[in-house]
Amino acid sequence: MNEPLVARMREFGTTVFAEMTALAVRTGSINLGQGFPDTDGPPAMLDKAVEAIRSGLNQYPPGPGMPELRQAVSDHHKDRYGLAYDPDGEILVTVGATEAITSAVLALCEPGDEVIAFEPYYDSYAAAIAMAQAVRRPVTLRPVNGRFTFDPAELRAAVGPRTRAILVNSPHNPTGTVFTREELDEIAAVCAEHDLIAITDEVYEHLTFDDAEHIPLATLPGMRERTVMISSAGKTFSATGWKTGWICAPAPLVTAAQTVKQFLTFTANAPWQVAVAYALRHETDWVTRLRADLQAKRDRLMSGLSAAGFEVLRPAGTYFVQTDIRPLGFTDGLDLTRRLPELAGVVAIPTQVFYDHAEAGRHFVRFAFCKRDEVIDEAVRRLTRLASGG
Ligand code: PMP
Ligand code: GLN
Repeated sequence: MNEPLVARMREFGTTVFAEMTALAVRTGSINLGQGFPDTDGPPAMLDKAVEAIRSGLNQYPPGPGMPELRQAVSDHHKDRYGLAYDPDGEILVTVGATEAITSAVLALCEPGDEVIAFEPYYDSYAAAIAMAQAVRRPVTLRPVNGRFTFDPAELRAAVGPRTRAILVNSPHNPTGTVFTREELDEIAAVCAEHDLIAITDEVYEHLTFDDAEHIPLATLPGMRERTVMISSAGKTFSATGWKTGWICAPAPLVTAAQTVKQFLTFTANAPWQVAVAYALRHETDWVTRLRADLQAKRDRLMSGLSAAGFEVLRPAGTYFVQTDIRPLGFTDGLDLTRRLPELAGVVAIPTQVFYDHAEAGRHFVRFAFCKRDEVIDEAVRRLTRLASGG
């Protein structure tokens, strides 16, 4: 048979996360690649999910999501950001942020429309844009004084007559950048001038460090009306396998996304929704501790990687730290990460796969620090072999 996969999806193959996790399992390496915690979320939240299953919450929930989760998301956004979303019509529960992003892009972009995304970008953005037969326009984030940022002139130059939307991920995976108010102002100005929709991926909204503050783009003047604001429970409550996410946006944008979403999955899983609603209301202290723990883990991994000879860039949020591999004598992160199990018994993610301009990211490798301290320490111990030549 000829290649059965449609042409527009052929460039995607298997995700780098699946490839690298499989490599870790096959070689028995420590997996600092795919970003998932190796400890559980709040115990009371887990109990709620079990309780929900045991009490018979096992049939289709309403298409827009369980009312208690929509209400909890609405209250969360009001309390935390001062953003008011009506739980009836302005909030849609999705199967993770991934489905939220894909539904939004499929619902809002015509074939040939252009979507701006900052590269390195989360891999599902490119796939969602391709599924919509839209065209991605990357704007490159580059390190300036140890922090990845963009050149506003490049952002402006990326806008054209077919630009429909901009995908904004902050805190940003895989660089760890948390956009400042000035950066968000630039983005907001471009959206307003060119009448663009902003699709914001805020799954790391609670995972910021030091004095970094997560500012939702929708809180900027004039932005709420044109922003599709997306988040999920996976990172906030250390439950990446629960795949429970949400969209908050003005009703016409939510209705559009829901029109698509109902034919992707119809509705999201019922038991997790009530457990996540509970966690959003009652587990904020747990999240505060998670954030402090992750900051300490970031520092632990950063100092270990520096001692092992990497140049390390300090992330202001997320699970991830970027390293420049050139001080160790390597130049290609893809090549290094494929050999890393054999060289050091560790798995990491080559940053270059998240770029259209791969050369901009060739020498960067991403390590995840959402792991137990002993796992981080053992990984670091193994990585010191790189500098000593094995
Ligand atoms: N966006 C970013 C930036 C991510 O890192 C991830 C990975 N969890 C997702 C979206 C997907 O989130 P979910 O698991 O809720 O679909
Ligand atoms: N968000 C996770 C990461 O960046 C991976 C999610 C996935 O495996 N698709 O590592």
